[in-house]
Amino acid sequence: MVQRRDISTRSGGLVVLDSTRPNRGMGQVWLVGAGPGDPELLTIKALRVLQAADVVVHDGLVSDEILAMAPTAARRISVAKRKSRHSYSQDEINRMLVAFALEGLKVVRLKGGDPFIFGRGGEELEACREAGIETHVVPGVTAALAASAGAGAPLTHRGLAQAVTFVTGHAAKGGQPDLDWASLAKANHTVVIYMGLSMAASIAAQLMAAGRAGSTAALIVENASRSDERRVVTTLSGLAKAASTLDGPAMLIVGEAMAMAQPLPFPLSGRGEPSAEEPMVERASLKLSGTTGRPLVREAGPSLSTTPSAGRGPLLPLSGKGRTS
Ligand code: SAH
Repeated sequence: MVQRRDISTRSGGLVVLDSTRPNRGMGQVWLVGAGPGDPELLTIKALRVLQAADVVVHDGLVSDEILAMAPTAARRISVAKRKSRHSYSQDEINRMLVAFALEGLKVVRLKGGDPFIFGRGGEELEACREAGIETHVVPGVTAALAASAGAGAPLTHRGLAQAVTFVTGHAAKGGQPDLDWASLAKANHTVVIYMGLSMAASIAAQLMAAGRAGSTAALIVENASRSDERRVVTTLSGLAKAASTLDGPAMLIVGEAMAMAQPLPFPLSGRGEPSAEEPMVERASLKLSGTTGRPLVREAGPSLSTTPSAGRGPLLPLSGKGRTS
């Protein structure tokens, strides 16, 4: 039978389910970046740590394929934000990590992308440090890198982008993010916006008001590196309209180098090149391999060719019309 042990004095009121295992001394917390979704973008270190986990505390951006790599016996706890049900506050998550470590468990806090890029990993690290818990951080491939790599549009590029800035499109208390629009509006500079989809219209308006040309290339990537990845190649002035066609986790990327972005091949022929007003939204149709679920082959429509995707590893050509990104 599972026993309960109240460690409220040490962990701020959390009750932890104790295993029947003997006391093993102090555990550890590993803040691990799970990457953008494609399991092949997990680092070897992240995989090794995950495979040794007693408990995995994960957020909603971590794919099931990656969670399946933890030992069967490891407890998996989702702390994903939910609209309808109770979500864990950051404070509750911090206390949970500390409490499990005090139980002697090896705790893997698995986060989408990189733990220190808009992942609140710093707060968790501080909480663990304060509690005297041994804590390690394993970096992950942040979504911006996967979005840019998949589209073949570099975040920095000689002559087009001498700098790249990662910003959040989401203000801590809702509403407008308080950003330095003048510096973001500088030309030859890539601006990557996390959590910006719902604020795309005002972000674009602010950038243009601060002097960034409406004709500046822009890219939106939804579900980067995943089998349902969608890309929209547009411009700053088209950003709001393009964003309104998407609803997933998405990166907005604005900058001259985004002119290099490759859309996915169109599954239907005859649609032609997009007009300036019409954003190009494309959906990858991928066949999943039987055992791993890893996308291997892009399924062909009548005129579809394949695209080697930097984010997904080699795709096997179905026709001879492969196009490189
Ligand atoms: N720590 C994460 C970011 C967390 S903030 C990282 O390093 O990637 C959450 C935001 O990240 C989402 O709103 C979205 O803007 C972006 N994001 C995360 N995963 C994504 C993905 N696979 N494709 C596109 N955007 C993604």
